[in-house]
Parts: sequence; C-alpha cells; structure tokens
Amino acid sequence: MYKFYLWATSRMKYVKRKHKKSRGCIFCNIAKDDPDTPKKVLFKDKRMMVIMNIFPYNVGHLEVVPVKHVEDINELSEKDYQYMWELVRKSIKLLKKALGAKAFNVGLNLGGDLSGGSILHLHVQIVPRYVRDAGFMEVTANTKVMPQSLDETYKILMKHVNILKNNK
Ligand SMILES: [Zn+2]
Repeated sequence: MYKFYLWATSRMKYVKRKHKKSRGCIFCNIAKDDPDTPKKVLFKDKRMMVIMNIFPYNVGHLEVVPVKHVEDINELSEKDYQYMWELVRKSIKLLKKALGAKAFNVGLNLGGDLSGGSILHLHVQIVPRYVRDAGFMEVTANTKVMPQSLDETYKILMKHVNILKNNK
C-alpha cells in the first residue's frame, strides 16, 4: 500500500506538445479562447486575465497576463501596468482566502530564454507557498508532488473568484 501518489498527468500534454508544430503564443491563444489550448481561466476582461499555470510549481500557481501581446514591460500603458499589479494583489488575496496560502513567490521573467522564461508574452507569476510544501520527494528526488489536481484547485478558486472582480 502506498502512502503517497505522484500525479504528473498534466506533464503529458507538455511532453506531447514538444513534438507538435509550434502553434504560436500560448497566452495569445488563451486570450483568443482557442479550443485546442488547455487552459484554466479565472478572470478575463478586455485588458487582463488571471489564469492558472497548467504546469504549476505549486498548487494554485497563477499568472496575471495582459490580453494584448506585450513582451516588454515598458510597452504597457500606465493604466494597464497599474491594473496588472492590482490583479496581482487581488490574486494573492484570493489564494490566501481560498487555499490558505501562507507565503508567496511573485515574479517576472523578462527577455525569454536569457531570463529563464519560456514564454515571451509578459506575465506575472504568483506561486503560493504552504507550510510543509516541500517533502521527501522535493528534497531528494527533484520531483514536485501535487496534492491536489488542477480541476479541484480550479473549482475551489472559482468559488472565491469575486475577489478578483470587486474594487475593494
Ligand atoms: Zn502572446
């Protein structure tokens, strides 16, 4: 009898995708609601969207993404820049409330490969951290154990999604 199960099924899409022809910018595809692009969109309006990273570093890994394809942070209008960070703040509130996240790593990879980022389309990563979120597998096997599926997390986040919308 196993005590722990390692679910990595979401990696399969990624592994398979590597062999397919590139289909352009994944965030532009999500913004266009392309049916062939796997996605978990929590919030979207004309300017910004908040989506789940479907290859998450941790449960509840979110991304705040401008709808328009922008690569350089300096190309964003002042209004959209403010709005993007407002949604980062609200996303943190959402993750605290919905998932009980205790800490966060928030960041940007600007400039593609050189920065360690794989997607040029500007996005802010929000990785929630939990008490005891690194265990045996993470420390010894370079493997992240995900205790909750993307669908489960999505459902829980959607229950509190008004946090992203209200202006308080
Ligand atoms: Zn794009």
